[in-house]
Amino acid sequence: MRELKLARREARPEGTVVRLRNGAAFGGAALAICAGPCAVESHEQIEATASAVARAGANVLRGGAFKPRTSPYAFQGLRREGLELLRAAADRHGLAAVTEVLDPRDVEPVASYADMLQIGSRNMQNFALLKEVGLSGKPVLLKRGFAATVDEWLMAAEYVLAEGNPNVVLCERGVRSFDAATRNLLDLAVVPLLAELTHLPVIVDPSHGTGLARLVEPMALAGVAAGADGVLVEVHPDPASAVSDGPQSITFDRFGALVARIAEIAVAVGRRLPAAGLAV
Ligand code: PEP
Ligand code: MN
Repeated sequence: MRELKLARREARPEGTVVRLRNGAAFGGAALAICAGPCAVESHEQIEATASAVARAGANVLRGGAFKPRTSPYAFQGLRREGLELLRAAADRHGLAAVTEVLDPRDVEPVASYADMLQIGSRNMQNFALLKEVGLSGKPVLLKRGFAATVDEWLMAAEYVLAEGNPNVVLCERGVRSFDAATRNLLDLAVVPLLAELTHLPVIVDPSHGTGLARLVEPMALAGVAAGADGVLVEVHPDPASAVSDGPQSITFDRFGALVARIAEIAVAVGRRLPAAGLAV
């Protein structure tokens, strides 16, 4: 593995805490609970989801406005309208907003709506994009490339840090494997490994990590047990009708039950749920 300059653990032995403006934090005693639909689809969808996940104990609302789709003919996201809907729904419920940015030219507009910029798995080594989000100064959620080694992933983080942006959170979302039984192979061993190698916070995405709604809860719990600083979970009012990633999206009820169980696991590993949001 290459030597890290800025991301290496020794550079900040106490660990980095990445804070968003609603009080959500990645890396402190409180976990970050990020939840929401794969894609922002409509006002009704994102409003209902924001309300439900905030009530259940989430503190960060996710939702794609620019979607990286394998087919150019698949739904590409609501773009600026999606950003507006996400921002408004997050604000109404005291949540921070994280959303993906696909193109260096969109970093500025996306950063004007979001509290955190997501770099998706397919763009983990888009170096022009990494530099641009580094320059933006906004907190960055850096997903692991689906075929990226830990070394490559940390070097990608290093690109953002090297532009003077210290606020990087790593997100394990599974890697492609030989076995199609699950969508990806969620690599939970990287959670404690990264804690040795880097001071950056790490969260786990069991939705893309498994592709199967029924596996989301056990793998989210396992991620927290392994020491993750939070989870990122896809939640949809009606997963069967979701425009993207329905099979791995969980309902509001299941999300509520999941957060309650995360609270139990958190205690066992010296962590806790975030304080209730700022919702009015
Ligand atoms: C997503 O979070 O909806 C997404 C596209 O994730 P990934 O980049 O991990 O595939
Ligand atoms: Mn998705």
